[in-house]
Amino acid sequence: MIILFNSKDEPMIAQLTERFQDQTDVFQNAERLAINGISLSDLTDEEQAAAVEIIEDHPQAIQSSRIFHPEPLTIKTKHSVISNDNFTIMAGPCSVESEAHVMKMAEAAKAAGATVLRGGAFKPRTSPYSFQGLGEDGLRFLKRAADAFEMDVITEVMDETHVALVEKYTDIFPIGARNMQNFSLLKAVGKTNKPVMLKRGLSATIDDLLNAAEYIASEGNHQIILAERGIRTFDNKYTRNTLDVGAVPVLHSLTPYPVIVDPSHAAGHTDLVIPEALAGTAAGADGLIIEIHDDPSHALSDGAQALSPEQLVATCDQARAINKIVEG
Ligand code: PEP
Ligand code: MN
Repeated sequence: MIILFNSKDEPMIAQLTERFQDQTDVFQNAERLAINGISLSDLTDEEQAAAVEIIEDHPQAIQSSRIFHPEPLTIKTKHSVISNDNFTIMAGPCSVESEAHVMKMAEAAKAAGATVLRGGAFKPRTSPYSFQGLGEDGLRFLKRAADAFEMDVITEVMDETHVALVEKYTDIFPIGARNMQNFSLLKAVGKTNKPVMLKRGLSATIDDLLNAAEYIASEGNHQIILAERGIRTFDNKYTRNTLDVGAVPVLHSLTPYPVIVDPSHAAGHTDLVIPEALAGTAAGADGLIIEIHDDPSHALSDGAQALSPEQLVATCDQARAINKIVEG
């Protein structure tokens, strides 16, 4: 059983914390104090009366739940507000290919209304013989391009030994789908104070995703964004993965975290990225992350799913219009 109290009730919170914190899990944020593993008989009458909620069957990922954080979380970076009340566009090439190229892509992303520039410098490629990214040079080029257009940087950190390096350049740490359950990496980004965008693993259930988010939250970092980027199903003949649009409202109902849809890795083909971007938006996504390229047939990675700069502008305009209808 988990018992929740209102954090504003300060004397009560102080009393409960002192009594229980050495015995069991006690979690606190600005809204709630949650005590896990106690029963009502452990509490005095006055304490029982102060409880705001008693949960018999509580989720494992308590700190990532709406029970603990009733209000949706807003994540602020220098140039972006990622929340329920704002539709955020993140765009850029799959990989940083050169300084000149990422600069051009930043201009295109900015023109479509993106506030976050994506681009991989360390790439999780399916084959070890495919382009692996430019490493720190790529991070430098990406940061220069983002600064030039007053955008935030989002660039994947693949390994816990790279967290300090990537932190120097990025504003948001994305954890790639293949690393969703790399618990040492999750703990390492959980110790930073930069937002983390956790991408759903290829075969991860929603509870797997929430438990992975909990690894980050349990280290003290609650600035978490969840990304639905398509999962493996029985049929990948026409689409790279299957965009689980239903996951968007489910995640919103279970967690306070903003939810971003990545239609690029879900669809895998340019023509399908556009309708999947719009479907994700209609399902209530708080933003999109989209790959772009001006010469997709020569892209160093994921050219088949890149939108052209013009397609990005048109898609983002449509998505913003849909978001307005959905959010009212
Ligand atoms: C990417 O963003 O280029 C990427 C590899 O994404 P995912 O981890 O979702 O496959
Ligand atoms: Mn990619």
